[in-house]
Amino acid sequence: MTVTSEWTERYAGALMNAFGTPKLVLARGAGAHVWDADGREYVDLLGGIAVNALGHAHPRLVAAVTDQLQTLGHISNFFASAPQITLAERLGALLGADSRVFFTNSGAEANEAAFKLTRRTGRTKIVATTGSFHGRTMGALALTSKAAYREPFEPLPGDVVFVEYGDVAALEAAVDTETAAILLEPIQGEAGVIVPPRDYLPAAQRIAHEHGALLWLDEVQTGVGRTGAWFAHQHPDLVSGQIAPDIVTLAKGLAGGIPIGACIATHGAGKLFDPGNHGTTFGGNPVAAAAALAVLDVIEDDGLLDHATAMGERLRRGLGVDPRVLETRGSGLLVGLTLSEQKTADVVTAAQDAGFLINGATAERIRLAPPLVLTEADVDAFVAAWPLILDQAGLERAGLDGAGTEGVAP
Ligand SMILES: *Cc1c(COP(=O)(O)O)cnc(C)c1O
Repeated sequence: MTVTSEWTERYAGALMNAFGTPKLVLARGAGAHVWDADGREYVDLLGGIAVNALGHAHPRLVAAVTDQLQTLGHISNFFASAPQITLAERLGALLGADSRVFFTNSGAEANEAAFKLTRRTGRTKIVATTGSFHGRTMGALALTSKAAYREPFEPLPGDVVFVEYGDVAALEAAVDTETAAILLEPIQGEAGVIVPPRDYLPAAQRIAHEHGALLWLDEVQTGVGRTGAWFAHQHPDLVSGQIAPDIVTLAKGLAGGIPIGACIATHGAGKLFDPGNHGTTFGGNPVAAAAALAVLDVIEDDGLLDHATAMGERLRRGLGVDPRVLETRGSGLLVGLTLSEQKTADVVTAAQDAGFLINGATAERIRLAPPLVLTEADVDAFVAAWPLILDQAGLERAGLDGAGTEGVAP
């Protein structure tokens, strides 16, 4: 019996079966590498699902958290702290807008805060999109389109309408003067890294504002450097021209693995909450805020936006050469691959056997969201192993000619 299988058995006896059997039991990490309980090494190309922006055990993140915990760990929101205030200011500066922030502990909670904020407009209708993912609390789930996630928990909070993602005409038809907000992911991550046309977000902003509605962007997965820009909606490859969303929600990569979320609202939207409208015990605590400040500093100091762009391009180019990759998508280190067969579960297993952690977002779409510190050597090792991984997963080469194409879908 391996150490891993012993832990896996104990897991089943102690934890709720909400996630299925864990694929591995991990013991430690460094940079973009992790080791399992039996000492086997893997290149982590998922990064805790777009969370470990600085990889594992980054010395500056460890130092920031340690120093803050030794100074002041938690205080409640009856009181304020310098890291919390500084982080809110930094996020506003990165957005380039006069903004107000509500800190939470997760992406779902950031979206809950935003959902409540939109109710303060006096309107209740939200226009969201098919394929969307906004989290698992009742409110965030109400905004999430996937039937398998929703149906066991209905009825969910109401007045949410879903329209086809990427379709401007569908937004035009759905948004009216009852609409509080349009809610969009700049790239749909959980759906398998779906990139909308470049004019989609600008059109959504125009349609929202024509009807007095807010534009709310869920950048929980795409924010904080993931796509090669601080925010995906600022990336010229993803969005034509400049837009100024009214609400931006963040979480995942923001504090590099320390739980945090942020609901940032600009213009008048930042002033919709009155004292007592919302609350949280942990949100904005000094340790999480100090961790986030360290993440922002390292991204800036080490040039990780450009590095993410370069490594993402290298991955897409290298992996897309195999004809069994029909399309490569995404931006920076949010990478989507559409495979020729619906075998991502087998591909994920074959990759793990070969020493690489990846994710199957759907039956044919692979997602990679590695640490922004991923090295060229890690990229090249995965690219070299990729054809054999696809062979091992049983994907046929026959009948496929030409290389995969890099494209913007759908
Ligand atoms: C992961 C994710 C969420 C939910 O975040 P949690 O921290 O898991 O609650 C919300 N929106 C998007 C776009 C996400 O990728």
